[in-house]
Amino acid sequence: MERTLSLIKPDGVEKGLIGEVIKRFEKSNLKIVAMKKLHLTQTEAEGFYAVHKERPFFGSLVEFMTSGPIVALVLEGDNAIKRNRDIMGATNKDEAEEGTIRKDFATNIEKNVVHGSDAPETAVTEICYFFNSFEIAC
Ligand code: ADP
Ligand code: MG
Repeated sequence: MERTLSLIKPDGVEKGLIGEVIKRFEKSNLKIVAMKKLHLTQTEAEGFYAVHKERPFFGSLVEFMTSGPIVALVLEGDNAIKRNRDIMGATNKDEAEEGTIRKDFATNIEKNVVHGSDAPETAVTEICYFFNSFEIAC
């Protein structure tokens, strides 16, 4: 069993895709063990994406991520990190596989509907960034 952090980004919430995204996770047998809707502050978004702070798109990414509410989820299942990444599709929708969330719903490389942890270490860090132990149901 593995856990991963998923975010439905502001564009996904704005487009009314919360239910659609959750349906895809549940259909794929990823169990939702925690979930909340929140609106990130600038400091919170900068902290979450700190690994990207030298990238040219950082400022725009933080502005986008603070532009509206998001939904944060913890997904659990065998190989959950990779399976979630497969359901999401590539960062750039033009390179994403057919039937993935990003291929179906992203606007562009930035406004790409969902975030998913990329490795076991980042999954733990990212889950703890959003949830404490009382908020995660086993
Ligand atoms: P992923 O979300 O697929 O793990 P990254 O970790 O590389 O992708 O990037 C984090 C987020 O930053 C992306 O999901 C996207 O919203 C944004 N982003 C990545 N690359 C670019 C880019 N070249 N231009 C604008 N935004 C980008
Ligand atoms: Mg990433």
